[in-house]
Amino acid sequence: MATYKIKLQDRQVVAQDTISFFFEKPSNFTFKPGQFGEFTLINPPETDSEGNGRAFTIASPPSAEQIMITTRLRDTAFKRVMQRIPLGTEVTLDGPHGAFTLHHKQTTPAVFIAGGIGITPARSIILQAVHDKLPHTIYLFYANHTPETTAFLDELQALENQKSNLKIIPIMTSMHQSQQTWKGEKGHLDCAMLSRYIDELSEPIYYISGPPSMVAATQQMLNACGIDDDNIRAEEFPGY
Ligand SMILES: Cc1cc2nc3c(=O)[nH]c(=O)nc-3n(C[C@H](O)[C@H](O)[C@H](O)COP(=O)(O)OP(=O)(O)OC[C@H]3O[C@@H](n4cnc5c(N)ncnc54)[C@H](O)[C@@H]3O)c2cc1C
Repeated sequence: MATYKIKLQDRQVVAQDTISFFFEKPSNFTFKPGQFGEFTLINPPETDSEGNGRAFTIASPPSAEQIMITTRLRDTAFKRVMQRIPLGTEVTLDGPHGAFTLHHKQTTPAVFIAGGIGITPARSIILQAVHDKLPHTIYLFYANHTPETTAFLDELQALENQKSNLKIIPIMTSMHQSQQTWKGEKGHLDCAMLSRYIDELSEPIYYISGPPSMVAATQQMLNACGIDDDNIRAEEFPGY
């Protein structure tokens, strides 16, 4: 773990009110898929009580050339500045941190349950698993209000064609707010929905990521389905 100065190279809108920032990757920077860094603005034109830095999961896999983070746009000083600074501006990256990473035992399935922007660690882990042709069976239950607010939806669904034991299950919770039609899962994830896709619920390791309230509710739901805490890992994104 160390501190690096990295240049912002690109910004891309990836869903409604959701933006990815791409940074140069220093040649001596390594991380595991699912880890995060502390990103700090250097002498920003404005700041707020949360300070000049935020933790962000690295949403790109280690195999990617750039470091990418993805966030929901909100009207905070940090995010206003991140949208405005010219490409080429340096920020500080402190990391990598965290242990929200894929288990080693390849015969144990992995079930990712991501709420909204909680997709970032799952995206990094799944893209790297596809890249490395890892044998793990992987399920992704990915809940969002609408398809419009679902980052990486097409990209993730297309990955199913590259890995036969990868199942992507997007879930829309507020389709009444959408202009699109949706034939996939709707409502809230529960034991019945999990059981439609997973034969033996006690077998996988479960990875929950998203806002703290979503993580807590999902953990309770999994316990109610008979899943032991030993098989549940969680990453909370405070501030949502
Ligand atoms: C390990 C880890 C990984 C993370 N990974 C990611 C990631 O990949 N992507 C990501 O986006 N975030 C991630 N976060 C969260 C991130 O660090 C920020 O906390 C988050 O993005 C919110 O930042 P902010 O500037 O919008 O709000 P902050 O300034 O951090 O918010 C401060 C307070 O204001 C409230 N608030 C701010 N804006 C609003 C609003 N519009 N409506 C209601 N309340 C509001 C918040 O609830 C919060 O209590 C991660 C956090 C951790 C700890």
